[in-house]
Amino acid sequence: MERLGEKYQSVEGFGWAARDSSGHLSPFVFSRRETGEEEVRVKVLYCGVCHSDLHCLKNEWHSSIYPLVPGHEIVGEVSEIGRKVSKFNIGDKIGVGCIVDSCRTCESCREDQENYCTKAVATYNGVHYDGTVNYGGYSDHIVVDERYAVKIPHTLPLASAAPLLCAGISMYSPMKYFGLAGPGKHIGIVGLGGLGHIGVRFAKAFGSKVTVVSSTAGKSKDALENFGADGFLVSTDEDQMQAAMGTMDGIIDTVSVSHSILPLVGLLKPNGKLILLGATDKPFDLHAFSLILGRKSIAGSAIGGIKETQEMINFAAEHGIKAEIETISMEYVNTAMDRLAKGDVRYRFVIDIANTLPATRP
Ligand code: NAP
Ligand code: ZN
Repeated sequence: MERLGEKYQSVEGFGWAARDSSGHLSPFVFSRRETGEEEVRVKVLYCGVCHSDLHCLKNEWHSSIYPLVPGHEIVGEVSEIGRKVSKFNIGDKIGVGCIVDSCRTCESCREDQENYCTKAVATYNGVHYDGTVNYGGYSDHIVVDERYAVKIPHTLPLASAAPLLCAGISMYSPMKYFGLAGPGKHIGIVGLGGLGHIGVRFAKAFGSKVTVVSSTAGKSKDALENFGADGFLVSTDEDQMQAAMGTMDGIIDTVSVSHSILPLVGLLKPNGKLILLGATDKPFDLHAFSLILGRKSIAGSAIGGIKETQEMINFAAEHGIKAEIETISMEYVNTAMDRLAKGDVRYRFVIDIANTLPATRP
């Protein structure tokens, strides 16, 4: 059966897709739409591997649409532009993150917070307004409205800039919004993974004090020496956790699995905020008194708007912030997913799409 909108999809695309919740990725030929008047076609150069890709591949959020081509940390080169495009030229290096469209009229859209538009269209595993399912950046090219792409400054290395499109903005935005970015603020970052390590670098560039709270004692040297954290707590060490109670203005929790947040609330000062980014589907168990005594709050945060994403990328370029990456080939992606599930990555996989995807064509 022809899917709605499929007749507009006349350009062949090639990527790697999972066909079911085994999450196993393999070569996949599909179609993409023609470049619209206000759209750009982007040749994908690099794509970061976010833990959200893994959640979706395995249908852990119970909303996966298969075949599923993941990837929302995309850096690429503009290969075609629509007639009315004014922001980009052919050859420009640009980034595409987690959303590729939104309603453009709601309050969130009008306030440059398209990420909170209830009709926002996800880069993959989302349904576009023309009725077609979106495929992400583990593919040779992508078509996007110019409003939903950002410029990558020349000074940023392209591969290690890719994770900024999701991990970077997801950490930058809550630090700014919740007033944690700046001297005199003490931020706790829980989980030193893809999001966490970039968060430490942003927090230090803002001038905040940063303590990493990790379940992996072996990450201490990286946290303190490589990423510049001021402190490191092993979350399973009760003495260390006890000694740090009541010291943090805010905590950003990036842990990708279900865990207890009560000890984290304890780390907060009065009026402190625990901000949840890690997207587990299990409910948290928390006693009201842990918040009442100390007027503490718990919030969530999802990526950031496009304007703020550009601001974040420019800030990263200005402060030399990039992700710590392991560049991999497309062929390696299933092994990379297994390693990501086990926490065996320092600190973000980035797929070298342009140099390694074409050879995998059947
Ligand atoms: P990641 O690279 O896998 O990092 C997650 C970190 O969580 C790990 O490095 C580990 O840090 C900790 N962790 C993992 N398993 C654990 C366990 N069993 N017990 C305790 N700690 C554990 O993942 P990521 O790409 O940074 O993404 C993190 C989460 O954020 C995912 O759920 C993802 O879907 C979500 N996310 C949210 C947003 C948003 O806007 N809200 C955006 C992107 C991603 P330690 O070794 O230091 O403990
Ligand atoms: Zn992501």
